[in-house]
Amino acid sequence: MVRRFVCSWRCGRRLILGKKFSFSFRTFHVRPSKSPQGLRGSILIKQSYSSIPQTESPLQIELVPCLKDNYAYLLHDLNTGIVGVIDPSEHEPVIDTLNKKNYNLKYILNTHHHYDHTGGNMELKARYGAKVIGMGNDKHRIPGIDIELFDGDKWMFAEHEMLVMETPGHTRGHGSFYFPGSKAIFTGDTLFSLSCGKLFEGSPEQMHSSLRKIMSLPDDTRIFCGHEYTMSNAKFALSIEPKNQDLQAYAAQVAELRQKSLPTIPAILGKEKSCNPFLRTFSSEIRRSLKIPENASDAEALGVIRKAKDNF
Ligand SMILES: [Zn+2]
Repeated sequence: MVRRFVCSWRCGRRLILGKKFSFSFRTFHVRPSKSPQGLRGSILIKQSYSSIPQTESPLQIELVPCLKDNYAYLLHDLNTGIVGVIDPSEHEPVIDTLNKKNYNLKYILNTHHHYDHTGGNMELKARYGAKVIGMGNDKHRIPGIDIELFDGDKWMFAEHEMLVMETPGHTRGHGSFYFPGSKAIFTGDTLFSLSCGKLFEGSPEQMHSSLRKIMSLPDDTRIFCGHEYTMSNAKFALSIEPKNQDLQAYAAQVAELRQKSLPTIPAILGKEKSCNPFLRTFSSEIRRSLKIPENASDAEALGVIRKAKDNF
């Protein structure tokens, strides 16, 4: 049964995210489950604890490679043992990782409805009794949804604030999940390293607006996206902005990582701003490369860049 999650208190605070974007957030709370044991296997991303407020416990984020080039992410709160998974494309690799670590799964979060982000929902829900969480404006397309979130909501994963951003463009009901205390955002198929998602259901204006929301976050925000596409994205980015030295250096770093079969994720927002063509619609070199008129808007430029990428 789908139920609207009623907030425990109406939050009067407003978090200012850059010049143009501000969100008011509602707060949801969750209770601790059993404690996990053991930490081995998969790819563990340790966050910089020095940047976390003292009231907040460590949040571990682990990459779980799925399908051909998807990433699911395990969230693990060390204090309470609460575990969640973001965008489980399929259930087997997620179950394998949970088994190895003796974790129980409490939450399944989906950025959007596509099968390669929700394919594991029903098996994981049946096996662990986990709650499925997704965007309320796309509830009919999220398998097994229990908890609906909306733009501006604040949801609590253990002691960690998660701020919900509606980021349409790739799909109508796409959301991104931002953990300010951990300097991490899960962008699904909205923002990739060096690219953005295809515009299946949205306009260039919508995608531009969604990317602007994400760009308003601090430069040291870590981007956890839905796919390992960075290598091919770098080739396209270099083809339209070959003189960008930051991009040249990043592309070399990406090639080295991929040669060793290592992930390029998380990406760092500050670096994306200097390298990702979809965040650089102002670049005169990109505009010259794609014959985008100087007076074209950023959204129009994004549309042209996206078409060029689709045909690359
Ligand atoms: Zn998708």
